[in-house]
Amino acid sequence: QQDHTLGECVFYDNRFMQSLRQEHELTALFQGALDRGEFLVYLQPKVRLSDGKTAGAEALVRWRNPQRGMIFPSDFIPVLEKNGSICKLDRYIFEKVCELLARRMQEGKAIFPVSVNLSRQHFKDPDFLRQFSEIADKYHIPDGILELELTESIFFDDQGIEFVGKCIRRMHRLGFKCSLDDFGSGYSSLGLLREFDVDTIKLDRRFFLDISQPKAEDVLICLTELGRRLGVQIVAEGIEKQEQIAFLKRVRCDMVQGYFYSRPLPVEEFWEWLEKRQE
Ligand code: C2E
Ligand code: CA
Ligand code: CA
Ligand code: CA
Repeated sequence: QQDHTLGECVFYDNRFMQSLRQEHELTALFQGALDRGEFLVYLQPKVRLSDGKTAGAEALVRWRNPQRGMIFPSDFIPVLEKNGSICKLDRYIFEKVCELLARRMQEGKAIFPVSVNLSRQHFKDPDFLRQFSEIADKYHIPDGILELELTESIFFDDQGIEFVGKCIRRMHRLGFKCSLDDFGSGYSSLGLLREFDVDTIKLDRRFFLDISQPKAEDVLICLTELGRRLGVQIVAEGIEKQEQIAFLKRVRCDMVQGYFYSRPLPVEEFWEWLEKRQE
């Protein structure tokens, strides 16, 4: 992975990486790292194609360990999911996002929706949304600003589809938006869009890998039209190239996220990036 910013060292120590994948090693390190503030929020912009404005961001976690350097989510999230610690980390990241939005509001600056990722593990605890809502209230975050990203795989977990539907309704009552992440990466079914009232669909980057394919454009035209009919916003993920942007404008996609605009950035760099861009 190369989305580190300059000055941060990337991680090459293979033995350490392997030990991370061992549950007990990581579990032993996790709580200490959390307490020492080694987990950081990075923000990646979402740009609206109709006017080119930055209309949102996604929070992505990074683990910066003083000895080990930068560690990416794919190296620790799968293990934290196995032992349930991921819920603690997600709540921590969510609180950091509330904190940075509150600071922004105090400075009199405009804020926009920021999404955080929720592991499917949260759905094992029927009460998890109350905790998120209490945190949001503590920082006086207005309704409609915090968005929760769920991957489509949760709809196929044992808790059952009814419970997930209930959670989504509850999210809305609590003032959260809900987006369906990684749509098209495996499990997707259009039936999900009929059953569930999501605000946003995030189309997985593999939709845009080969846009010269004859059917690519027709598929996307239909998906964006479906989005408009259902009143669901469509976000294209993993966009790196100018040709992809031109394509997405042709098919009238709403929002774009990807290296083309910016890699995920440390919070301060993100605000600087934003200010430079709005000039
Ligand atoms: P995701 O939610 O699908 O996030 C998008 C991933 O794509 C991020 O990887 C981002 O850095 C990467 N990306 C963005 N633009 C581009 C692009 O133009 N090209 C390519 N090739 N990649 C791009 P990242 O940050 O390494 O995160 C990987 C996954 O880890 C995320 O996928 C998400 O599922 C999970 N994750 C990240 N942060 C959290 C978190 O706080 N909680 C939970 N539960 N999961 C998280
Ligand atoms: Ca996501
Ligand atoms: Ca609220
Ligand atoms: Ca995604």
